[in-house]
Amino acid sequence: MNLTKEQQKRVDRLSRMTPREWDAVCKRCGICCLSKLLLKCVDVDTHKCDDRTVYLHRCCNNFDPKTRKCQIYENRLSADNCEKVDIELILAGDLLPASCGYMEYVFGPAAVPASVDFNTVRPIEDEKLEAMSWDRVQREIIPDSLFWSREK
Ligand code: SF4
Ligand code: SF4
Repeated sequence: MNLTKEQQKRVDRLSRMTPREWDAVCKRCGICCLSKLLLKCVDVDTHKCDDRTVYLHRCCNNFDPKTRKCQIYENRLSADNCEKVDIELILAGDLLPASCGYMEYVFGPAAVPASVDFNTVRPIEDEKLEAMSWDRVQREIIPDSLFWSREK
């Protein structure tokens, strides 16, 4: 990802933060614990290919949608599906929502702040999601999902 000088400065600032300062940037929105699908979308006119992340109204089994908290926070990185939020993940561009505190710290305020009704979020095991037919994903999951993308 090409960063402007200002964005690079903010990344450098993030990388020098103490754990306490780093944690304070997180808004505790809980969106990174939602299940995601990574899609390749092709514009039929320009044939331009774009990676998009679809956030689902399904979440990691360790996430409690009522409190928006991880139930195994201290041991979360031992879970197969859990990825540490770090500089690499932030620079991957479309794995975190644009309204994530870390994304906004580097790239500025999200054009469309994420709004999730956590009352509709239900846990799902990743294996169940992976085992679903594409037809079922289209029928049951995609219409019930949030959609963000960020140009790389
Ligand atoms: S293990 Fe916890 S922090 Fe990791 S994705 Fe699941 S709920 Fe989120
Ligand atoms: S998406 Fe970003 S701000 Fe929201 S909980 Fe995850 S790391 Fe924190």
